[in-house]
Amino acid sequence: MRILLIEDDVALGEGIRVALKSEGYTVDWLQDGVSAVHALSHESFAIAILDLGLPRLDGLEVLKRLRATDNPIPVLVLTARDATSDRIAGLDAGADDYLVKPFDAAELKARLRALLRRSFNRPQPVLEYREVCLDPVNQQVSYQGQPVVLQRKEFLLLHQLLAQPGRVLTRDKLQQTLYGWDEEAESNALEVHIHHLRKKLFPELIRTVRGIGYLVDKL
Ligand code: CA
Repeated sequence: MRILLIEDDVALGEGIRVALKSEGYTVDWLQDGVSAVHALSHESFAIAILDLGLPRLDGLEVLKRLRATDNPIPVLVLTARDATSDRIAGLDAGADDYLVKPFDAAELKARLRALLRRSFNRPQPVLEYREVCLDPVNQQVSYQGQPVVLQRKEFLLLHQLLAQPGRVLTRDKLQQTLYGWDEEAESNALEVHIHHLRKKLFPELIRTVRGIGYLVDKL
């Protein structure tokens, strides 16, 4: 589970990162609003933890830009003061929940669990593409009506590709689906997973765009 943490207070950011890593989350940590907007538009995260007082671009502005692109990622806002106006502005701009600093690590974890539960319970459509059927909720895949057993990472890749037919997904983006920034991906791991997907499903399903990435063609 990959979490984007945007917090410019180094001690607090480090504390949150350590606390969440110990729960098994992959945490990518940024310290300013401009980098946050960039990461949120180019990469996939299960959830974002967003401080409102940030250098370069205010957290509220980050949130507005995020929601302007219809990105549905759950966002937990951190506010420095118990100012009602901040909380209201955050919720109005599309935050899903907020925490007022200082807060307890246990409370942060509980809020995250609740947000993740809610986002998983959102209806997620079954994706169908040329006799391949992917059910995101039950994490099942079939081809020509027969169940196909995929590894976790193969499933994540296929989900990304089938969700956006006709769009080339860069190697970087796909790799980040599989690993956080900190974790070194084996250099050919992506190719190996794609190779297995083609073998388990059918070879023409995933097209290589040389030097860029992969796509499934728009039907
Ligand atoms: Ca701050």
